[in-house]
Amino acid sequence: MTGGSPFSRRDMLRAGGAASILGAGATLLPVRAQGAAEMKGGQVPGYYRFKHGAFEITVLSDGAYTLPTNLLGSNVAPEKVVAFLEKNLLDPDERISHVNIPLINTGKELILVDVGGGMNWMPTAGKLTDNLRASGYEPEDVDTVILTHGHPDHIWGLIDDFEEAPSFPNAKYVISADEWDFWTTSRAMDTLPEMFLGFAVGAKKQLTPVAEKTRRIKPGAEISPGIVTIPTPGHTPGHMSVAIESEGETLLVTADALTHPFISFAHPGWWPRTDIDPEMAEKSRRAMMEMAADGKHLTLVYHISFPGLGRVARAGTAYRWVPSTWQWGG
Ligand SMILES: [Zn+2]
Repeated sequence: MTGGSPFSRRDMLRAGGAASILGAGATLLPVRAQGAAEMKGGQVPGYYRFKHGAFEITVLSDGAYTLPTNLLGSNVAPEKVVAFLEKNLLDPDERISHVNIPLINTGKELILVDVGGGMNWMPTAGKLTDNLRASGYEPEDVDTVILTHGHPDHIWGLIDDFEEAPSFPNAKYVISADEWDFWTTSRAMDTLPEMFLGFAVGAKKQLTPVAEKTRRIKPGAEISPGIVTIPTPGHTPGHMSVAIESEGETLLVTADALTHPFISFAHPGWWPRTDIDPEMAEKSRRAMMEMAADGKHLTLVYHISFPGLGRVARAGTAYRWVPSTWQWGG
């Protein structure tokens, strides 16, 4: 091996691979005759599409953002959280939160679940509109937006700050009545800890302009044939998840009933600081995973690595995430 490589010659020989055949300094890559290729930078459009019974679903990425890991367990010793993260080869200081947003084409209607963080949440998020266009749709095409809850990474994309108008101009909106009430009255301001008061200001600003187009429901209601909301309160007072069924195929969209790709499954009793009522949120989290595991349902988790699709398996008294394999074509 050449000097400075993190892989020792011994490692390579132990792996029984190319190194023993090729010898020192050899490479399997062809050499470019015309010189080095240009580095491109940037990122490719983030969308992933699959058939779901008679529906077509496109998971759109709103990007990703980082949060400090001290938000991960309000009822656990910080050293315990850090040890768990390190054991799973994760950064002990910061976690990356992907943002996976399903767009459901039922054949009659185009339904979006949440709208991402828009331009004022995090510079690495707010990519929903770009990725929607890259996937072949325009914001004007969206008929219905289901809002799972009022946190910034889910609703701050409602209003386009440049246009000072709704980002999805032809859409009608659906939200839990309790969630609407929490963010649009003084309830959020009166009850949230100081570090989250900005969420209350932002939610009111985003929700008020779409008030007349918003239907406030009791979670459990069917939004469109095959698309049913599920009450999963706790993360926020009126938080809801969504079940999508077509021709016997099922998908659970958890929203933030689950928030972490490892902790939510292995330690469902650890309370994220972002859960407003952590005890109730834990009940909802466990109920959601029981439902997913029982039915072997395809599951879409908002903050897991893009596209956030997989299934929930039981592991002792806890759970394990099994990422879905990709489908090509069709
Ligand atoms: Zn979230």
